[in-house]
Amino acid sequence: MNDKENNVGYFSGNQIPDGAKPLAQAYAGHQFGHFTMLGDGRAILLGEQLDAMGKRFDIQLKGSGQTPYSRRGDGRATLYSMLREYLISESIHHLGIPTTRSLSVVSTGEQVFRGERHNGAVLTRTADSHIRVGTFEYARNFCSTEDLQALTTYTIQRHYPELTDTDNPALELLKAVMHRQIDLVVHWMQVGFIHGVMNTDNMSIAGETIDYGPCAFMNSYNPRTVFSSIDTQGRYAFGNQSYIAHWNLAIFASALLPLISENQKKAVDLAKEVIEGFQQTFTEKWYNMMCGKLGILNPKDKDKDLVDGLLSLMETNRSDYTQVFLALQQDKESDESLFDLAEFSGWMQKWKNEHLRDQGKTPSLELMKKLNPRVIPRNHWVEDVLEAAVQGDMAPFDQLLGLLSKPYDNHPDQLQFQQIPAGFDARYQTFCGT
Ligand code: AMP
Ligand code: MG
Repeated sequence: MNDKENNVGYFSGNQIPDGAKPLAQAYAGHQFGHFTMLGDGRAILLGEQLDAMGKRFDIQLKGSGQTPYSRRGDGRATLYSMLREYLISESIHHLGIPTTRSLSVVSTGEQVFRGERHNGAVLTRTADSHIRVGTFEYARNFCSTEDLQALTTYTIQRHYPELTDTDNPALELLKAVMHRQIDLVVHWMQVGFIHGVMNTDNMSIAGETIDYGPCAFMNSYNPRTVFSSIDTQGRYAFGNQSYIAHWNLAIFASALLPLISENQKKAVDLAKEVIEGFQQTFTEKWYNMMCGKLGILNPKDKDKDLVDGLLSLMETNRSDYTQVFLALQQDKESDESLFDLAEFSGWMQKWKNEHLRDQGKTPSLELMKKLNPRVIPRNHWVEDVLEAAVQGDMAPFDQLLGLLSKPYDNHPDQLQFQQIPAGFDARYQTFCGT
């Protein structure tokens, strides 16, 4: 469904559909900045599972058919899009980033119509939970304050039990969710991941990457990179992800206001103080991570110039985000023309002088190895293996999945998976909810 369709949904405005179960599969959300009533339109929550360690998971079917929230959608999913979620979510997991996981994709034998006929499939996914910012927006807008309180208490018990006995649990929840979101976006920036549709209904309170629709990985470094066909303004571009997380958290804060304080002004002041801390914390963590990609063990303020300088050269030169850091890590030149630039040699000299001179090389190298993946799901390979998979040949998919499950290891015999055909990304487009 495209965004336009979502906003003129089956139940217009803010109506709740008959039979809606508060808080189970209902949620609202801000999609591209506009508030709308949503809910799981093509997903069914089967239940919860406790693992051997007592950790609780949701198990959900995606693409299993219409629900009370389907609006004009068919509730189905294509085999292509469910395999795409499987591949990318597993890759994100193996890159060390919190995410929902994919247990299986099963063909339904049914045809799904998306402009033309496609094979249908159901994905079984697991998640820490499916509670999102949009769940709180739903409770705030369509339920009582007691319901909002019940949701908050449940969320704290499930995801942040350490906050239970604090003086202001709702405010503490806001802080804790903010910190997990900051960590998540910093992780995405580490590997060049673009979520693509960071609507508030796609932001997990547990801090997992959720809802793999138009997501993709950036190859050439450019903070304005967007692949989603509907993101014409670049709202969810690579370099905007922190701003959007910040915006989404402000929405989360406003949903929590009645629980933060009965005095509205006080509630707003307290929430504002938390939200205003976002940018500084994000920037610090982001620079720390970027310095780590450069092997800088104890980053100092002046190291920020090194990060900024490199990114600016990479952007001008359209350098591959993954390959440049790998080349630095391996202390060799990559094929990137960046390495021929006089300006870059100057940067390199500065980097080596300032940071490698006095440091034992090993810990610095170990840090780089942890932060610089050798393999990411390159867009054209993702499309190639999915194309083969929907035609019935799973071997290339399995091969790529195998590689992506060890992204920080060296795979010298499989370097082809890191090549990008010239011009491919310029015309590459991804789609929501196919
Ligand atoms: P997403 O972009 O995947 O986060 O989906 C946005 C909203 O559209 C959610 O409420 C989905 O449940 C709903 N949706 C997406 N695809 C379909 C579909 N084929 N049928 C019904 N609802 C859908
Ligand atoms: Mg969603």
